[in-house]
Amino acid sequence: MSCFSSPDYDDHEHVSFFRDPAAKLSAIVAIHSTAPFGISGGGCRMWPYRSDDDALRDVLRLSRAMSYKLALCDMPAGGAKCVVIGDSRTDKTEALLLALGRMVERLGGKFIIAEDVGTTEADMRVIARETRYVVGKQTDTGPATAYGVFLGLKEGVRHALGRDLDGLTVAVQGLGGVGRRLCGHLKKAGAKLVVADTNRAAVDAVVAEHGARAVAPEQILSEAVDVLAPCALGAVLDDGSVPRLACKVIAGAANNQLAEERHASAIASRGILFVPDFILNAGGVIGASQEGRTLGGGGEGPTYDESVAFRDTERVAALVRQALERAKREALTPNEAAIRMAKEKIAERKRG
Ligand code: NAD
Repeated sequence: MSCFSSPDYDDHEHVSFFRDPAAKLSAIVAIHSTAPFGISGGGCRMWPYRSDDDALRDVLRLSRAMSYKLALCDMPAGGAKCVVIGDSRTDKTEALLLALGRMVERLGGKFIIAEDVGTTEADMRVIARETRYVVGKQTDTGPATAYGVFLGLKEGVRHALGRDLDGLTVAVQGLGGVGRRLCGHLKKAGAKLVVADTNRAAVDAVVAEHGARAVAPEQILSEAVDVLAPCALGAVLDDGSVPRLACKVIAGAANNQLAEERHASAIASRGILFVPDFILNAGGVIGASQEGRTLGGGGEGPTYDESVAFRDTERVAALVRQALERAKREALTPNEAAIRMAKEKIAERKRG
């Protein structure tokens, strides 16, 4: 395993490898940056990675994207991420979560942990028995994330197709906390839905509720639709899937949908608009930040106010618009434009 020479190592400030054999915990925390606030934040993903290299790669990429997201949203923290190697359905025990809490505590407040794929609000409450550096104990970020994706997706459609969603077909991959709610917004806006999930019950629920057409999971990325919304896992846009895409716009919640940055150019050269995921899915951190404001204060934090989270999430639309306009002006892919915007913001914050 190489770290410093990895193509995904982006001068990360701190990378820690944790193991607690008694609790069967193997975890990596990557802090992309704490500057200039002295803290960083990011979710904890529990996933049965095929190798340690895959886990390291994921945590490096996710933490960098988190830095971009937090900077663009003016959140007072740098980006970080934690990955736990294991299957959340079978390997997640109270002992493992408590060991994770002690691990976070050892980082002394430099890293604030939150939920992500494979971890839940209830898990954060267990972790909080060992550390106060945790948010997400009382916040289901799915609704705000889905709302932000919906607003950003509409901006993408307006930019690429010059119209609203009424009558368009949107394919949604992944019908979990975000994808399922995104379907609700899309349906209300008049879109027709094509959906897929590896969990049959999730598909049945969305078909029953929204009259969506279900397709097999391996088919969804190549459906002939107006918009594709990847809301399952990252790295779905790769050398295999990009040539098969049959949509006009891609706008979804999953983090790091591009297997590599070069796939942004491959998608653009096919005349498809890719809306940067780290802007689209920012509603989650925007919502969770309500809890983060009380960190260190010792209290449980304010009751999460979803209407405030939704109001604050509306900035996602403006950020998407800025990125798309800049991309057009400077002949960049929207992803490159959004990364430039984020890097400029990070540099500005460091200058103070
Ligand atoms: P989730 O775990 O609730 O849902 C993911 C869904 O995708 C599950 O129903 C799962 O069965 C399905 N899935 C997995 N592999 C699939 C495949 N190959 N094909 C089709 N479906 C598949 O997660 P979520 O909270 O809905 O988040 C979705 C994505 O958005 C994740 O990538 C997450 O990292 C990202 N995201 C979520 C938030 C948030 O606030 N929840 C914030 C930012 C980013």
